[in-house]
Amino acid sequence: CLPPARPSPIPPPLSLSSLLGFSFIGFARGQSRTAPYRSVNPATAGALEPDFFPATVAEADKACVLADQATPVLAGLSGQKKAAFLRDIATRIEAATPALVARATQETGLPEARCQGEIGRTMGQLRLFADLVEKGDWIDARIETANPDRKPLPKPDHRSLLRPVGPVAVFCASNFPFAYSVAGGDTASAFAAGCPVIVMAHHAHVGTAEIMGGLIVEAVKAAGLPEGTFSLLMGEGRIIGQQVAKHPALRAIGFTGSRVGGRALMDTAAARPTPIPVYAEMSSVNPVVLLEGALAARGEAIATGLVGSCTLGVGQFCTQPGLIVLTRSAAAEAFVAKLSALFTECADGVMLTAGIHQAYQKGLADRTAQSGVKVIAQGKSSGQPNRAVATLFATEAKTFVADASLQEEIFGPSSLVIWCADQCEVDAVLGALHGNLTATVHGTDAELGQHAALIARLEAVAGRVVINGFPTGVEVSHAIVHGGPYPSLSDGRTTSVGSNAIYRFTRLVCFQNYPDAALPAELRNANPLGLSRLVNGTRSNSAI
Ligand code: NAP
Repeated sequence: CLPPARPSPIPPPLSLSSLLGFSFIGFARGQSRTAPYRSVNPATAGALEPDFFPATVAEADKACVLADQATPVLAGLSGQKKAAFLRDIATRIEAATPALVARATQETGLPEARCQGEIGRTMGQLRLFADLVEKGDWIDARIETANPDRKPLPKPDHRSLLRPVGPVAVFCASNFPFAYSVAGGDTASAFAAGCPVIVMAHHAHVGTAEIMGGLIVEAVKAAGLPEGTFSLLMGEGRIIGQQVAKHPALRAIGFTGSRVGGRALMDTAAARPTPIPVYAEMSSVNPVVLLEGALAARGEAIATGLVGSCTLGVGQFCTQPGLIVLTRSAAAEAFVAKLSALFTECADGVMLTAGIHQAYQKGLADRTAQSGVKVIAQGKSSGQPNRAVATLFATEAKTFVADASLQEEIFGPSSLVIWCADQCEVDAVLGALHGNLTATVHGTDAELGQHAALIARLEAVAGRVVINGFPTGVEVSHAIVHGGPYPSLSDGRTTSVGSNAIYRFTRLVCFQNYPDAALPAELRNANPLGLSRLVNGTRSNSAI
């Protein structure tokens, strides 16, 4: 039984001085005043005010207990109520955009336009899920009516739909302070499914997280939802995040970050007395295969597009094209010469954190030291702190196939050209690939027709296959797949972007021989919500 919802006022503009540095444990603020830390402006390496205080283990536990208490209330919400809540969060984000942009640009070094665009995408995601749950068909209602006369056994009445799993922990991504963070796709899809959410703020943009967390808490209050609907924890993922991951109330985890971090959470989740699913988006090198005819016809345009895709956002996108596969030919030689020239012209760019910059430098040093791999082009260096210099490597197919470490993501503006002697070597390279979010092929119409087997190989290793385009730029839609076989995702059957992301936080429940009045509204004979349902194997919007 929920208290009446308060009308949703447009909040006053936030100022940065309103940051307190404390977690949100439901409606309460964190009490710990020890071990303060600050976010750092990566462009200047200067620490930003104010101090932030890690949540205590007891506070992390409290957030989980509150989430557990909120679970049945959220599970019982109508699609309309959830939609209103999601739209209200989006409205509040819209009103707070200046403060969000001001803080995020300082904390991440990302330009204002990028932050504005990402906030737009974040609001769009919330509204997409609002529309989805308001319409209601996503719940996959299925009805098999009883047949008491069936021989040799009577057929029972079976009705099934998707239910929320319960409390979800969301680990924010360093490289998306909005779209994959506090109010990002994981949170939006978990709320849409009807799950309480506990967010681990990323230390790289903890002030941005606090502003966003405050907006969600206000939306929870305005909707009259229980305080356990949402908590935001500050502190180390390895300590506080692990504590949440082990809590018995938790039912699923959403994560975007390193393979090491994702694996650690997968291992923790699997070792629990009650294991839970982890939806971790980790590392992807996004191979791009270039066929000779395409290079001959439009090699310069492909080189220009590819260097833009490799260096967009200082290469800090999960869909950054890190492998370029081509067969030796005059057109391919000219293409690589052009690509190298474009890499050489690139200015360096500020990375998100000093740690990510160090990891990039180490990745470059390790690859440079690898036998059979050489640097063929490098961009300009300004010598400023935390700047990444675009770097293009090259190797031969045989070296690549023999060395799995060449498939490791170097997070930043770097790519590896893989020279193949012939189609057999291209097949060997593609056959050796690990799982990726995307795979791309450029070819003429005739080539694409002739290379159906090659394209099928790409489909086997990636969640999204791109033809004659570039992999960066992920549309948020009903059809997008942002996932792929391990290690791009921990569970390659899912997507972390788009409306299908909701299914990660659901489970199927079947109701057998229920009286009509006891069924959820979605499954009642009269079909009071007007849903599209699968009735005895046939899709129908009608009553039965
Ligand atoms: P990260 O180190 O994996 O951290 C992501 C989040 O997970 C942080 O909140 C972190 O908290 C937490 N975490 C890390 N290890 C954990 C563990 N063992 N247990 C529980 N929580 C843990 O990633 P990052 O800081 O964003 O960037 C580091 C590297 O990750 C990059 O250099 C890049 O290689 C990779 N990365 C890849 C992508 C991609 O899209 N492919 C995106 C972002 C980053 P604490 O740090 O506070 O412990």
